[in-house]
Amino acid sequence: MSDLNFIEMSAVEIAAGVRSGEFSAVEVVTAHLDQIDKHEGDVRSFVTQMGERALDGAKAVDERRSRGEELGALAGVPVALKDNMAYRGVETTCSSKILKGWIPPYTATVIERLEAAGAIAIGKTNLDEFAMGSSTENSAFFSTRNPIDLNRVPGGSSGGSAASVAARFAPIAIGSDTGGSIRQPASLCGVVGVKPTYGLVSRYGLIAFASSLDQIGPFARSVDDASLVLDVISGHDGRDSTSLAERSYSHQPIDNDVKGLRVGVITEMLDGLSSDVENALNLAIDALRALGAQVEEVSVPAAKFGLTAYYLIAPAEASSNLARFDGVRYGVRVEGKDMNETYELTRGQGFGPEVKRRIMLGTYALSAGYYDALYGKAQKVRTLIANDFDNAYDRFDVLISATSPTVAFEFNAKSDPLSMYMSDVCTIPSNLAGHPAMSVPFAGGEGGLPIGIQVLAPSFGEGVMFKVASALEAAANYKAIPEWDNKGK
Ligand code: GLN
Repeated sequence: MSDLNFIEMSAVEIAAGVRSGEFSAVEVVTAHLDQIDKHEGDVRSFVTQMGERALDGAKAVDERRSRGEELGALAGVPVALKDNMAYRGVETTCSSKILKGWIPPYTATVIERLEAAGAIAIGKTNLDEFAMGSSTENSAFFSTRNPIDLNRVPGGSSGGSAASVAARFAPIAIGSDTGGSIRQPASLCGVVGVKPTYGLVSRYGLIAFASSLDQIGPFARSVDDASLVLDVISGHDGRDSTSLAERSYSHQPIDNDVKGLRVGVITEMLDGLSSDVENALNLAIDALRALGAQVEEVSVPAAKFGLTAYYLIAPAEASSNLARFDGVRYGVRVEGKDMNETYELTRGQGFGPEVKRRIMLGTYALSAGYYDALYGKAQKVRTLIANDFDNAYDRFDVLISATSPTVAFEFNAKSDPLSMYMSDVCTIPSNLAGHPAMSVPFAGGEGGLPIGIQVLAPSFGEGVMFKVASALEAAANYKAIPEWDNKGK
């Protein structure tokens, strides 16, 4: 065994070392599995661990190398997968009782692409049930803890994926983002999280929450790694009808020169920030100005209605998407005296309270007599938001805001649904517009907890988005360190 510190390496470094034969994929995976053994008991980021499979996968990569075969861009790189993506032969639960025991007969396109590039799946990560939530406390199984401060939530709904990267269980992870579920946990755990342009990444094999908003994207500890992963997973897939033809993202060495770039600070996202987050945003603005960017405030007026529109559109789509979980086709079944009672008992016992709330909200918004006033109106607001973003992008190359209004909060801190929903006020508008947006760790706030800055771009603006994020990353004077390594605390 070499004495290299594999768990601190980037995906780019791991893949380069495995390809050149400097070290083996088995060494890399073993080091990450050891880290999981040491700290997963505290963090609880995984619903299902895949240690044995991962070692087999690593051996296969090493054998391919010894046969002189070409290895992919992610050769030997461990990856953690949100447990709402199907993996053939591995239980896939959406952290819901209703899917407990379901073993998919097929694999999500994103996972196939990662594995074809040599990445090694090491586990399925915990989430808020069916990706509904912002803290991972809605998981039907257990809560995940934030590795930076184990008394705090990791954010959600992709909390397990964000935590696994922050905990050095894997250099990269995959999540899904419907209203902020990649960016908000990335911000709270001090890692990079990217929601790509709608349609850029195939959702085949992603268990749908709200199909017009859902998008899969990467977590990483650097902007460069996130860009590489997006390259691997993006591109057309005939098995997802919303996947865009002839569009993919291609990773380049990121030039982070922002001189002359026009950066808008979204006015509507300045309200309600805690003072540490507000300070961090101001520091980010100063840093971009010092690097020669032109930073000005810009209004995206309809963005302030984003949360309201989202909580009609997302539940409406969820109520329809989740109708398939009826105890007949998947997972758990609670037998009743007839078909209707079987449905009622299965769904009554299989879904948790937040999922039931969304199904009821959504069914109501779609019902006769309310459809136009609620769902229809929300769709109009959605169009206004997209138009207001377009106007802003006439004058600005990218927009920025805080990712989350606060740092990671304590468990049980948000007892009413609305205060939890507010966690996503800055992230939701990009989903409604279909635009890319990402969170990059930038500063330490209250208690040294991580604060992320959100960089937003117009559709297919991933290149300029990564450029600005990379400039912020270089200017940041902050690194999120797991609690167990943080001797200064
Ligand atoms: N927190 C938001 C919600 O609960 C967003 C979730 C997501 O992006 N999957 O709906």
